[in-house]
Amino acid sequence: MTAEHFDAIVIGTGQAGPSLAARLAAAGMKTAVIEREHLGGTCVNDGCTPTKTLVASARVAHVVRTASAFGIGPESGLAVTVDMQKIKARKDAVVKASVDGLAKWLSETENLTLIWGEARFVAPHVVRVGTRELSAPKIFINAGCRPSVPDFPGLHDVPFLTNTSIMALDVLPRHLAIIGGSYIGLEFAQIYRRFGAEVTVIEGSERVIRREDAEFSESIRAILEAEGVRIITSACDIHLARAPDGIELGYRLEQGAGQLNASHLLLAVGRRPNTEALDLPLADIKTDARGFIVVNDRLETSAPGVFALGDINGRGAFTHTSYNDYEIVASNLFEGAKRRVSDRPVAYALFIDPPLGRVGITEDEARKSGKAVLIGRMPMTRSGRASERGETLGMMKILIDAATQQILGASFLGIEADEVIHVVMMAMAARAPYLTLKTMMGIHPTVAEMLPTLLQDMKPL
Ligand SMILES: Cc1cc2nc3c(=O)[nH]c(=O)nc-3n(C[C@H](O)[C@H](O)[C@H](O)COP(=O)(O)OP(=O)(O)OC[C@H]3O[C@@H](n4cnc5c(N)ncnc54)[C@H](O)[C@@H]3O)c2cc1C
Repeated sequence: MTAEHFDAIVIGTGQAGPSLAARLAAAGMKTAVIEREHLGGTCVNDGCTPTKTLVASARVAHVVRTASAFGIGPESGLAVTVDMQKIKARKDAVVKASVDGLAKWLSETENLTLIWGEARFVAPHVVRVGTRELSAPKIFINAGCRPSVPDFPGLHDVPFLTNTSIMALDVLPRHLAIIGGSYIGLEFAQIYRRFGAEVTVIEGSERVIRREDAEFSESIRAILEAEGVRIITSACDIHLARAPDGIELGYRLEQGAGQLNASHLLLAVGRRPNTEALDLPLADIKTDARGFIVVNDRLETSAPGVFALGDINGRGAFTHTSYNDYEIVASNLFEGAKRRVSDRPVAYALFIDPPLGRVGITEDEARKSGKAVLIGRMPMTRSGRASERGETLGMMKILIDAATQQILGASFLGIEADEVIHVVMMAMAARAPYLTLKTMMGIHPTVAEMLPTLLQDMKPL
């Protein structure tokens, strides 16, 4: 078979692929972009966009339910009816608008050919899609990850949902059991609790969202439990069986065995890279022990001319890290830049309500670093904006390198924390000493105005 020749091939239309393909095409390169399932990948179809649309519906339910505390509605509270079909339809419409926009953009881009099908390597620089073979000197892999499905005894005897299949749900579960108490599991827990379902989170570690400092794990647990989410930690030996009215989920704790009956089960136990289907060894592209593609600081793989961007390279697991991968590769290819992945600090949010905004290192990591570190912390009750809005849950914490005065990291849990954290991110990007923020005048009453106050009273860690 003679391969069709392109200047560049992009595999996957996640958060890096489309922008990169358009940039390559705009530079006059004949570019093929290959997608096996849906344009926009995880973020648009079964990740950020649909979940944050559901978060928005869930917040409205919560606000209506708590309205009487603000003097709105009858003292007994406003009745909340939850129409899951309408909620899903709204979510689907937001997703469709995004996918349609992307489809239009790609179809109107000169030099760019969209090819539907699963790509796999058959040789270095040669990819097969169905009956076609394509070759290119430059290949960019943006094929993402998919939900992990662990081997719990009995799992395949019961119906279960993943973050993908739950997107088709248009009924309210009687009782949603979620295995996994990290970012994805906790967001769904609050969403479905606010919709009115009984929700239980079963987590194997001793605390939820264990990558964060213990005090944030505890605060997040308290926020969710106050809304009625049941959280079981340190659960092991999870096993499942079909029951007449749903699913029996058994587990073991130190103090003995436990069991619950759920109508629906959601697995939220991590994501694994879509590397198997790509037949990477045929192109001399190396993966690590967990299957992620090994890349250097410029996102080059072990095969010359082949790059890996987004979740599949294991260097980030977010839409913004994937898009930033595109920016790094494009700047290095087209602008002679020398951008490196290791130059960006870790940054992300947990979109429960109130959200957690994170950048840089945690207090635990600061302790392990051996550096002299200054720490500042403040409860959200100190913020005027938070009091006025009646949302004083959470706290702010910031870490400073005592020697360089640079900000090492921050964790903000509370109202608007996902936005306010960007003030810190900008200071870090500018490599500004923390005094710059400490002497800043903020606008009253906002949450960001509290940053100088937070930095007033720094103590050695
Ligand atoms: C429930 C959930 C909520 C999330 N919320 C957030 C959030 O709020 N903020 C945030 O920043 N991140 C969030 N994320 C993470 C975010 O969705 C991903 O990090 C982001 O989509 C980046 O993915 P990507 O670009 O690596 O690839 P993906 O978006 O996963 O896209 C990969 C694409 O490649 C295609 N593909 C795979 N293999 C092949 C092949 N062999 N041939 C052809 N095509 C192929 C797939 O079909 C897919 O379309 C969330 C994820 C989940 C699951």
